[in-house]
Amino acid sequence: MMKNTQLVHSLNKLDTEQLDDDVYLIIGKNKGTFPYSNSLLIIDEKVVLIDSGIGDEQLEIIKDEVDILINSHYHIDHILGNYLFKDLWIVEEEADVTSSFENYKRFAGILGTSIEESWLGWFHQYFKFHASFPTRTFKPNEVFKFGNMEWKAVHTPGHSPGHCAFYEPKRKIMFASDIDLTPFGPWYGNPTANLPDFIDSIKLLSEFKIDIICSSHSYPQKDNIKESLGDYLDIIFLRNEQILDLLVKERTIDDLESHDIIYNKSQKLYKAFAWFEKNMLKKHIDLLMELGKVERVGEKYRPI
Ligand SMILES: [Zn+2]
Repeated sequence: MMKNTQLVHSLNKLDTEQLDDDVYLIIGKNKGTFPYSNSLLIIDEKVVLIDSGIGDEQLEIIKDEVDILINSHYHIDHILGNYLFKDLWIVEEEADVTSSFENYKRFAGILGTSIEESWLGWFHQYFKFHASFPTRTFKPNEVFKFGNMEWKAVHTPGHSPGHCAFYEPKRKIMFASDIDLTPFGPWYGNPTANLPDFIDSIKLLSEFKIDIICSSHSYPQKDNIKESLGDYLDIIFLRNEQILDLLVKERTIDDLESHDIIYNKSQKLYKAFAWFEKNMLKKHIDLLMELGKVERVGEKYRPI
């Protein structure tokens, strides 16, 4: 097809990994590391791009060939270039988030908090927010037929409430979005993130038959996929253990945060990052209390 010839030509100008005949991972700027992310490109009767965080210059190269943009979830490093596309699909739970910066901050749990100013200082170093509006919302686990290929938006909440991975069962390709298999491990620093859901979502992905997995921040991988998902999940349990080790002495969340389990001191120069870490630690403490391993005494926590 003429259109696709043009598209393949455009792709030569980008950093891509071909996953199958008509499926590419476009590696974002800075190798897809934050504040950028990778995009999945599906070339079918419709040309579909998942996420718009590869960098504006990169998006300019292909935007005219793309029919539909889908967001895996609302985080800024995945939606930054949304405004360049006409047809935008967003999961129901997060449909209103990108329509204004107020909505974005509210949904991220930042609006009106003590760290809003610090967070803004950090945010504006990297990002300029452009409002974008979905032309269609979709249901978690909806299956899209773009022509010959069928892609399922696999609802994998935890990182964000509406977070979806994308799976094609014939080719057994999984784009795992921000279940990103990086050494940093799972991130659940927003109040709207959910740790038990994140655990379940990683387990859910490991039940799929996957020949090739890639993510928003990692390169395609064909081998040891189940082990990698297992290792990624283990980072959560390792954090549990690190917290339990520290709780040989009763500690507050602030005290736990000072031990830098998630971020190091230089990463926490912006106090928003200390706040993210505290949110994550609190989710661990809640989980450990539910498991009957920790109890609360006033503002402090101790093992049972
Ligand atoms: Zn994210």
